[in-house]
Amino acid sequence: MSVREEQIKEIAKLLSKEKRVVFLTGAGISVPSGIPDFRSPQGIWTKYDMNEYGTLSAFMKNPEKLWTFFWDIYEMGATAKPNSGHKALAEIEKIREKIGKHTVIITQNIDLLHTKAGNKYVIELHGNPEKLVCLKCGENYELNEFKIEREKKLPPRCKKCGEILKMDIILFGEQLKTDTIKNAFYEAQMADLIIAVGTSLAVSPANSLFFYGKKRGIINLEMPIIPVFEADFILLGDASKILPQIVYKLKDIVYNEKPDLERNDK
Ligand code: NAD
Repeated sequence: MSVREEQIKEIAKLLSKEKRVVFLTGAGISVPSGIPDFRSPQGIWTKYDMNEYGTLSAFMKNPEKLWTFFWDIYEMGATAKPNSGHKALAEIEKIREKIGKHTVIITQNIDLLHTKAGNKYVIELHGNPEKLVCLKCGENYELNEFKIEREKKLPPRCKKCGEILKMDIILFGEQLKTDTIKNAFYEAQMADLIIAVGTSLAVSPANSLFFYGKKRGIINLEMPIIPVFEADFILLGDASKILPQIVYKLKDIVYNEKPDLERNDK
């Protein structure tokens, strides 16, 4: 067995044993679904200047302009499909549920692909693009209430006060929602194992969650910017290829130990 196969088997073993597991995911897991990450050479910030489109003050100054960015971001997620990495995480949750283990996805992504793939417990740290909020009167809306605006790529306006609404995603300079961050820190602090997948671990406070795991692992295309000794294991490579291999081994372990469980996880 190669070193890599050994590592994959060890991770599957951990997933079969540890009671509480958190997957902390980032833009990289959705790259194979055709959604670019932010920082790579093909990343979103090469199309949109982060200071002009990615900050709360930019929205306050020119909300119409931000909506060109919001619509673009939204359409990317809405038209994308979960890849084999997302599907593998949904399978891991299902298999672990059968053996009484708790699995949570804490994602920095705003593409909703984990939910589409079938994960039940997903904490969306950076918001949900299908929700809209009025920063003037506080009214909340669902994006699907604004079909004409979506079709014509216009900024939706509050039906109460007429102000341009904001997509409920976290821009630079904005606080994360109190309930969401509380929930995320609770899950991270309770976790026996946290695996960071497809994230550079460069964005705060999401990156700090990683350090709460009693055991910590990384699955990423390149080495994230943290000291190597902070992780118990690091697997460099494409998450959409590595995660299905882990599922394969996990099934082997779980169903050999508990042959009475149904193998049909689909
Ligand atoms: P990031 O762009 O900083 O890092 C992504 C990491 O994923 C990189 O280290 C890259 O090497 C790695 N990667 C790329 N392809 C991969 C693959 N196939 N398998 C494994 N790893 C791969 O992204 P981040 O850490 O998530 O933080 C950036 C911010 O960008 C977050 O706030 C997030 O909200 C936002 N964002 C979200 C999306 C999305 O919703 N899909 C897309 C772009 C950015």
